[in-house]
Amino acid sequence: MRMLTNANQFRVPGLLGKLGMMTSIRDTELLEQSLLRTLGPLLGVLDTSLYRLDDGQLLARVIHYHRSKVVEADGVARMVERIEEIAQVSDVQPEILALMENVRLLGKPCTRSFAGDMLTAYPLLGGDEVLGYFVFKRDHEASPNEDATIRGVLEVFSNYYALLDVSQRDRLTGLLNRQALENNFERIWSAMARPDSFHERADGRRSQLSGKFWLAVIDVDHFKRINDTFGHMVGDEILLLATRLMQATFRSSDLLYRYGGEEFVAIISAENEAIARNVFERVRLAIEAHVFPRIESMTVSIGYAEVDPEVLPVEVLSRADRSLYQAKQDGRNRIYDFHELVERGTFASPSYGETELF
Ligand code: GH3
Ligand code: MG
Ligand code: MG
Repeated sequence: MRMLTNANQFRVPGLLGKLGMMTSIRDTELLEQSLLRTLGPLLGVLDTSLYRLDDGQLLARVIHYHRSKVVEADGVARMVERIEEIAQVSDVQPEILALMENVRLLGKPCTRSFAGDMLTAYPLLGGDEVLGYFVFKRDHEASPNEDATIRGVLEVFSNYYALLDVSQRDRLTGLLNRQALENNFERIWSAMARPDSFHERADGRRSQLSGKFWLAVIDVDHFKRINDTFGHMVGDEILLLATRLMQATFRSSDLLYRYGGEEFVAIISAENEAIARNVFERVRLAIEAHVFPRIESMTVSIGYAEVDPEVLPVEVLSRADRSLYQAKQDGRNRIYDFHELVERGTFASPSYGETELF
């Protein structure tokens, strides 16, 4: 039997290896980053960006990839890469917006000169729809060979993205599911825990991850009764209606997940506790005030907690969940903040043993 002494001779060529890595990722946001990591070096450019549109064709997210040469203390030069999500999509330069609009209208890649360089944008297609744009800047246009490669990589990306997106969404409501929550929440939390977590803005300035985050668990009151009285079909319809009401009440930047059957989790950014409470109170009121078919009225209870970088994600979720349980105990159709219950003496003050510091 021949021994495999040289692993290198069995390595797949660079691009195939990168595509293989891309399709082993299980998270849509990491996949987006991986796309930029694959195409940036391939095109020999230092900056590439991905512009994602939401369901309403509005710009939802901008991810920027940057490579630069760093000379180490020992004199050796090394390429370092940085990936950042730009928080303020409203800061995107008008030239880039105009180019993307061109791509959308023509349904094909477009190039135009921009500040002494060539700016090129490719559409990310999902069926007939444009889901976003891949943009890079270089001193020359893509060659026919490069063009074919970019199109190929973008197609693999789009197809795989669609598959992942389906697996991260709940089939009844279309909301992100529990798996997606676990992925996203870890990311928000770890970005907060890093004091140097910055977002690069399109105008080159850097802004710190803005505001505080709050996580709420929202649970429908006495939902079992609705199912028992009117049947599962009606129950499903009511869940869908409640979802739409909540989506209309939250802002589009807020995250809403279907955590379990009639249980939802929301992560919102708010400057302080009073503002966060107001948002969740609006959701509670929207459900309470709505006249649902058949059942007429329905309520929800909500427990929430601040996303504290010094408290592990699982503990934040547990704090919100315990506050929800208390809201149920105290009569339902109400909202509790974890800290409010600690101050009131309902919960013991979290000790450092519990808050798991780094
Ligand atoms: P509480 O106020 O304490 O939350 O009472 P509850 O009845 O809402 O809570 P419980 O957890 O006892 O019951 C939840 C019910 O939700 C049980 C289950 O049959 C129902 N359910 C879970 N998922 C679905 C779903 O997808 N569709 C429908 N129609 N019902 C569901
Ligand atoms: Mg319930
Ligand atoms: Mg429940």
